[in-house]
Amino acid sequence: MWYFSIISPVVFWQYMTLCQIVDEGGCKWPNIDSYIFYPSFTRRKRYGQLSADCDSKEALEAFAEETRAWLEENCPPAMREPVRSDDDMCWGGRKWEFESEDQKLWLERMVAKGWTVPTWPEEYGGAGLSKKQEKVLFKEMRKLKCRPALSSIGVVMLAPALMKYGTEAQKKEHLPKIARGEIRWSQGYSEPGAGSDLASLKTAAEDKGDHWLINGSKIWTTYGHKADWMFCLVRTDFNAPKREGISFVMFDMDQPGVTTKPIHLISGTSYFCQTFFDDVRAEKSQLVGEENKGWTVAKYLLQHERDTIAMAASGGGKKKKPIEQIAKETYGEEKGKIADSAVRNQLARFQIREAGFGLTLQRMGDEAKAGSPPGPASSIMKYYGSELNKDRRELMLNCNGMNSLGWEGDEFNNGEIARSWLKSKTNSIEGGTSEIQLNIIAKRVLGLPGVVS
Ligand SMILES: Cc1cc2nc3c(=O)[nH]c(=O)nc-3n(C[C@H](O)[C@H](O)[C@H](O)COP(=O)(O)OP(=O)(O)OC[C@H]3O[C@@H](n4cnc5c(N)ncnc54)[C@H](O)[C@@H]3O)c2cc1C
Repeated sequence: MWYFSIISPVVFWQYMTLCQIVDEGGCKWPNIDSYIFYPSFTRRKRYGQLSADCDSKEALEAFAEETRAWLEENCPPAMREPVRSDDDMCWGGRKWEFESEDQKLWLERMVAKGWTVPTWPEEYGGAGLSKKQEKVLFKEMRKLKCRPALSSIGVVMLAPALMKYGTEAQKKEHLPKIARGEIRWSQGYSEPGAGSDLASLKTAAEDKGDHWLINGSKIWTTYGHKADWMFCLVRTDFNAPKREGISFVMFDMDQPGVTTKPIHLISGTSYFCQTFFDDVRAEKSQLVGEENKGWTVAKYLLQHERDTIAMAASGGGKKKKPIEQIAKETYGEEKGKIADSAVRNQLARFQIREAGFGLTLQRMGDEAKAGSPPGPASSIMKYYGSELNKDRRELMLNCNGMNSLGWEGDEFNNGEIARSWLKSKTNSIEGGTSEIQLNIIAKRVLGLPGVVS
């Protein structure tokens, strides 16, 4: 089961591949702006030819060999086993208790190499790898079945926003800690009265000179009870039009006045919290972007979040057995085909859509490489990916027959099928509902008139 933005290890890598725009010809970048925002030709012009040799065929082959040898020596065997559940992944943070010595060792070793965020510059905790080198690294990791050492909302959601809108001091303070898995982040966007209509948020930040005092409450805060810091939308001007009085601030959750109350989910777990703020202090130095202009930062981050969810939906998690095989075992086999023609058709239709979606994601990856950051079109992928994943889980339910009913016990893999089916229902809510994505597509992608945002 994958929760929240379903930052499964596989998805995590895929997402990094999609979003990190790194030059095709260079290996190390002098600063983060050049690394993430300028198309490669611009950067070459600005910084000159940067060791393009590292991306030559010979250099990449040598890098692959070195990488393989390093992984073989350094990835503990237990870290080459499939991830069993969300709790089996390493999320890091001050409260994190390692599942095992191997998990700890693996994180330490990957951090030392800068490979938790391979393409980030070294000064921010990365390895300064080129895009092609990163591809090689992931490929070698996949071959050896190495798990990603760290899963992190900080990496996939906050970091892109910090890189674009943060100050140099904020980048230097937060990015290395994110890369090392030292701080676990939560997202304080939704409120009891502000979900789809997020700009109606009322959590108030009162100006106290060098800091704000925050009062109010956020809801559906994924892992709020386990997080160390929060990036949070607060209202800093109650008189301005609703999108113009919002600021994007970060604060340490380990302070008096922050309380979290877990919310229980239908799938039997509790990953959410309602989070309450009672005179919580946020330093002015932790404002991202301009005061009252937080909506711009928030939207940018949401595009990354939506891409992550779309990515998550593309894979469907680790497959122990091909779905056709499962269907054959449940419905029988005739001439090598699933005996039940209705199930066969359903599966074929799904697989065609899944293949189309996969190819479109690949195209997005290529566009990202060419320098275009996520835009409103993320909503198309988020919408389609979430709906596809719900269909996938429905199909799994059908294909597994009676086995789908199991809720507990090893023979049912602890109810994985039923729980994943339930969990998939949240995909079209988290990060903005499907209806809201359709509104965004209509308004900002298709430019249709008269659309309510
Ligand atoms: C798994 C999961 C994890 C989440 N994690 C976080 C988190 O970490 N941090 C955080 O801040 N939030 C988080 N959320 C909250 C999420 O962003 C909100 O649930 C979502 O934005 C919808 O808001 P809402 O629940 O208030 O529903 P509402 O906004 O009340 O919507 C209810 C229904 O009305 C429909 N609707 C509303 N407005 C329109 C419209 N204009 N046009 C058409 N239909 C409309 C919606 O589509 C929906 O079907 C999470 C949610 C989930 C499910």
